[in-house]
Amino acid sequence: MPIRQALGEVRVARLSPSIHKFGDEFIPFLLLPVFFVVFIEGCVPRFPVSIRRQPLGVYHVVKGGENLFRIGKAYDVPYQELARINRIADPHQIRVGQRIFIPGATRQLPVEIITPSEVMVEARRPAEIQAARPEGFIWPVRGNISSKFGPRGETFHDGIDIEVAEGTPIRAIERGVVLYSDQLRGYGNLIIIRHPGGFASVYAHNRINLVREGQEVKRGDVIGEVGSTGRVSAPHLHFEIRKDNVAQDPLYYLPQL
Ligand SMILES: [Zn+2]
Repeated sequence: MPIRQALGEVRVARLSPSIHKFGDEFIPFLLLPVFFVVFIEGCVPRFPVSIRRQPLGVYHVVKGGENLFRIGKAYDVPYQELARINRIADPHQIRVGQRIFIPGATRQLPVEIITPSEVMVEARRPAEIQAARPEGFIWPVRGNISSKFGPRGETFHDGIDIEVAEGTPIRAIERGVVLYSDQLRGYGNLIIIRHPGGFASVYAHNRINLVREGQEVKRGDVIGEVGSTGRVSAPHLHFEIRKDNVAQDPLYYLPQL
C-alpha cells in the first residue's frame, strides 16, 4: 500500500466536523468520547471452521474526523499495530478515503469523532459541589492573568488567559493522555489532556503543539509553546480545567500564586 502524505487534506477533513461556532472561547465539542454501542451478537455470521487459515479482517475506509488512534479504539487494535500492518510511516497522516486493513474485524464499525455539543454550558455547576480539590496540579505557565474565568460580555469565559511571551514552554498540569492535539477555529493550536479523576485540561492559541493524540504525558512535561494562533490579539495561553466535562475555575484547582 503506498504511503500517502496528504496532510492538508486530512487537516481539513478532520476539522470540518468539529467546527461549531459558539462564542469566542467555548470548546465546541464533547471532551469525553462518545462510545458507540455495537451489538455484535447475532449480527456476525458464524463462519465454518476452515482448515486453510486466511488472515481475517476487513478494510476500514477513513471518513472525515477519524484518525488512526480513534480507528484503533473502535476496533480494539492498537494504532501502532494498524500503522505497522498497513505500512503507514506516520500514523498521524492518514487521509479520507484511505483503506486501512483491520485484522480480526468482520465488518466496518463506526469510529467515534469529536462532536459538537452545547450541553456543557447547561451542565455548569459551582465548583463547590464538584469532587474534592485534587492535589498535584501545577501551573502550565507562570504569568499575569489577563482574563479570569466567568461571564465575559455575552459569552462565558471557560478558562483563564495567562499573558506570557510567545514561545514560552507549556507544561502538562498533571499526568494524563492527550485527547486532542490539532487546530480548531478560534482556538488556533489546541491541546486537551485527560487526567485521572474525570479531569481534563485545555491549552489554546499555542504556537506549536509538541504532543499527539494518544500520547501519555507526565506532570510537568512540555507539551507545546505559547503563541497567538486562533482568534487572539496578543500571545497568551487560554487555559481550562474541566471536571466531568464541565469547565471549572482553574484558580480553584491550581496552587496559590
Ligand atoms: Zn481565554
